Amino acid sequence: MDFEKLAERLLPEKYPALETYETKYPPRNLAKGAEVTRLAPSPTGFIHLGNLFVAIANERIAHQSGGVLYLRIEDTDEKRKVDGAVEAVKNALRYFDIKFDEGAEIEGAENAYAPYYQRQRADIYRAFVKDLIKKGRAYPCFCSEEELSALRERQTAEKKITGYYGEYAACRNLSEEEIYKNLDAGKPYVIRLKSMGNPENKLKFHDEIKGDITVTENDQDVVILKSDGIPTYHFAHAVDDHFMRTTLVIRGEEWLASLPIHIELFETLGFPRPRYGHNCSLMKQDGDTRRKLSKRKDPELSLEFYRQEGYYAPAVKTYMLTLLNSNFEEWRLKNPLSPLEEFKFSVNKMGKSGALFDLDKLNDISKNELAKLSAEEMFDFLKAWTYEYGTNAQYAYFKDREYLLRALNLCMGTSSKKRRKDFTTASQAMSLLEYFFRKTEKIDEYRVSDTDKKAILNAFINSYVFSDDAQTWFAKVKEVAADLGFAAEMKDFKANPENYKGNVADVAEVLRIAVCGRANTPDLWTIMQILGEEETRKRIADEL
Ligand code: GLU
Repeated sequence: MDFEKLAERLLPEKYPALETYETKYPPRNLAKGAEVTRLAPSPTGFIHLGNLFVAIANERIAHQSGGVLYLRIEDTDEKRKVDGAVEAVKNALRYFDIKFDEGAEIEGAENAYAPYYQRQRADIYRAFVKDLIKKGRAYPCFCSEEELSALRERQTAEKKITGYYGEYAACRNLSEEEIYKNLDAGKPYVIRLKSMGNPENKLKFHDEIKGDITVTENDQDVVILKSDGIPTYHFAHAVDDHFMRTTLVIRGEEWLASLPIHIELFETLGFPRPRYGHNCSLMKQDGDTRRKLSKRKDPELSLEFYRQEGYYAPAVKTYMLTLLNSNFEEWRLKNPLSPLEEFKFSVNKMGKSGALFDLDKLNDISKNELAKLSAEEMFDFLKAWTYEYGTNAQYAYFKDREYLLRALNLCMGTSSKKRRKDFTTASQAMSLLEYFFRKTEKIDEYRVSDTDKKAILNAFINSYVFSDDAQTWFAKVKEVAADLGFAAEMKDFKANPENYKGNVADVAEVLRIAVCGRANTPDLWTIMQILGEEETRKRIADEL
């Protein structure tokens, strides 16, 4: 077969000699140990926690080693492409403070290895496909969708591995005459790799995360160039990781199954391979079983969820690092206030099998991380969230900065040694803060009789003096309690509970519910001071 002639017929365009790409995209000048990593999302419009999980690992590895992290958009699949998806990817990653040094549309970066959109690199891929055709290592395949699905059915019925390989690869053995006849008839075709592998052969492969693994040699004649002249992920990523001079590919373990194909592609193209690490999947406990997080069932898989709920990005990052590196949690305990960048991230501390993602654990971490903020930092965090996701009413909370800061200082316990951990997310904090701005729906119900409730509120309001200090205020609450048959002292109540209707805490609870709509609040005297005399009296009078 005249492969030169076939290559010219299939890809008639003139491409630069392959060495020119080596010169155009030269090896990077890297310090010893510096790693070049990348994030290579497909613009499908759905950016998920798995992407962030891998992004954080790649970011840490690149930047900690003095290397480069770049963003490549893998947009070869036209069908799955969604408008605005690239913007969504970039926004989501920016929220989590993943900074790229180069790549798709990164402003101000020196994009020496551009373009970073795969569709814009089509010529590079075609040049290499053409070369493989010339070498007899790639061939046109004219099989239709129907023929391929019939093949799949047959293989399944025969309990054979499905795919286009060996005896099943019909077009692999077409004669020159048949090929040209098909081409002349205008039959659509794809270009496939002519695999030289044998699945009897097992290869030893060192995965940076999973360790030494055994890989079966590839024998699938995978598609490398689709009928629209655009390559598949397999082929494009091999060319790109070579010419973008990636040193380490950390990607999801769903790609492990394709590794044999990738190994053969790098060999066939004559490119040295980057090192690979396949990161474990995020799992969820579902009853007695563990399963992968699912797009359909788990809203927390989408990164949009964290922004909508107003998760504090460093808290999500902290949790991701807890799942990524087994020694991170201990480091965080010892260094609660250190920037996350000071943690020494290591690939060999990454988990080999599924990481259990637990929203409750994330919420705990979020409370802890938010409790480290000052009231001013909390103000800015809440404001940023509210301006994007909040309601008009919440928007107004930020008009009087001093007022909100007083509320935040109280809710965060900034003046005490033991900080309060009332806030989990911005959305939750904003609804918790509502009672500082208006009388809210009741979260908790009164636990005393209606008569007692009214008696307590009446007695309180009659003795209430706004200028009383906290001690005087509390002494009066105790008086109200004692007058109405509640124990003023806890120790008396504990000794003889049967002698009382309840105790002073029950009385205070009635006041809390009347003023704040809830039974659990920070110090009530301070809340009343913040609300002011008029509002406090009004809320209590409302309950009478
Ligand atoms: N485009 C692939 C994806 O979105 C990237 C896989 C890789 O990192 O190599 O899953």
